[in-house]
Amino acid sequence: NPLQGAQFVLAAHRVDQLPADEGAEVAFAGRSNAGKSSALNALTGHKGLARTSKTPGRTQQMVAFSLPPLRDVPARASVTVDGQHVSDWRLIDLPGYGYAKVPLEMREHWKQEIDRYLHQRRSLRGVVLIADIRHPLKEFDRMMLDFCFASGLPCHLLLTKADKLSRNQAAQALAAMRKSFPDGLHATAQVFSSTAGTGVDEARQAVAALLRQ
Ligand code: GDP
Repeated sequence: NPLQGAQFVLAAHRVDQLPADEGAEVAFAGRSNAGKSSALNALTGHKGLARTSKTPGRTQQMVAFSLPPLRDVPARASVTVDGQHVSDWRLIDLPGYGYAKVPLEMREHWKQEIDRYLHQRRSLRGVVLIADIRHPLKEFDRMMLDFCFASGLPCHLLLTKADKLSRNQAAQALAAMRKSFPDGLHATAQVFSSTAGTGVDEARQAVAALLRQ
């Protein structure tokens, strides 16, 4: 597993508090409660890495995780976190978006920061968008796809909670989603379930491929 051994670096309230903009990183985005924390934990094989919660919208931070040096790629720089050697390859957990109970002012702040992050971050290699397979893409998801389209940034869509559907229904939902992507968008999509472990290996490879490019 190329994402094994990820570790927490810091939580930021603003883009300028994130780790130095060097190396490569992949951002995880999704509406609150889509299953983003569960997906991060499943992908890194670390149950307590990202905090999962039944109360949506509580974690309003950008969280940076460092990956250990990848065996086949020499790290361009290396840093030490809590005495451990880590690479300058990161996963960034963006704040969950779209939860109505989060005060408007805070939602506006995060909208702005996410926008700033996506436009300014040079080490950003791609976005993993997490969406519930049972729901069509919502306004926030469309906004992320539009941004990726506009900036030529690749996007990998995880259609999660696939365990809630039959295999056939999940395949149909995936096909419909792929069809709805605009031409020219560098997007891939897959079926995923943190609970059932569906698509975990495929997603790990997709994230590693984004980091390597
Ligand atoms: P986040 O707000 O996007 O980080 O979502 P969480 O990972 O905290 O998950 C939100 C809720 O969905 C929790 O109750 C999880 O247990 C549940 N959940 C997450 N992933 C899955 C999944 O693959 N299948 C099922 N059935 N439930 C899931």
